[in-house]
Amino acid sequence: MTSETLNLFRLQKLDTLIDKHQLRISEIDQALSSDLRVKKATALLEKAQGQTKEIRIQLRQLENKVEDLRIKRKTTQASMFSGKIKNPKQLEELQMETEALKRYINQLEDEQLEIMIAFESAENQEQKAEKRLSQIKAVTVQENAEMLGERKMIETDLKRLLREKDAVLQSIPPENLTLYHRLRKTKYGTAVALVTDGGCSICGQALTPADQQSIRASNQLVFCPSCGRILFEG
Ligand SMILES: [Zn+2]
Repeated sequence: MTSETLNLFRLQKLDTLIDKHQLRISEIDQALSSDLRVKKATALLEKAQGQTKEIRIQLRQLENKVEDLRIKRKTTQASMFSGKIKNPKQLEELQMETEALKRYINQLEDEQLEIMIAFESAENQEQKAEKRLSQIKAVTVQENAEMLGERKMIETDLKRLLREKDAVLQSIPPENLTLYHRLRKTKYGTAVALVTDGGCSICGQALTPADQQSIRASNQLVFCPSCGRILFEG
């Protein structure tokens, strides 16, 4: 048996546990987030947020329009009082224009006020929806405390496993690692198989005494003749 195989086996053991932990964490997260009450409250909040956003955009557009009209009115007034325009008819036209602008601005300001009221009410709805969601989440968290406790333990263990994995990775040559990853992908996550009772523990293939001898003696990796996994004899 080579230490290369031992290291790959150690890596496999860690990866198997890491896979298991990660799967369980995603199961727990799925269970926590698929809670119907949370889903419903989240949907309501998103709807309220969408409405607030829409009204905010409307309001901003209207504010910009009013601002533009004010500037236009000021410019018109400035040219009226500049003294450069002497023609009374022209002055009268400018006067009418500033009055029309004033009326239009007033009208838009009324609209603005209405939208602001709608905005406040939308914001209010959003805050309510936010509060409701966090209340529901708190209830859910309490109910799912057990699952959350499990998740926390798994995360702690996962951190330890990942640190160990880092250390093991240091001792594995790149070509072996490439092979290992390729086998992990094609062999349902298990690249290294333990030899038990003279056979491959994964696919059950019996090994000849010669096979077993070569596993013990060889400096090369030995593969299961049936499933193709790297064999390791503990
Ligand atoms: Zn096998």
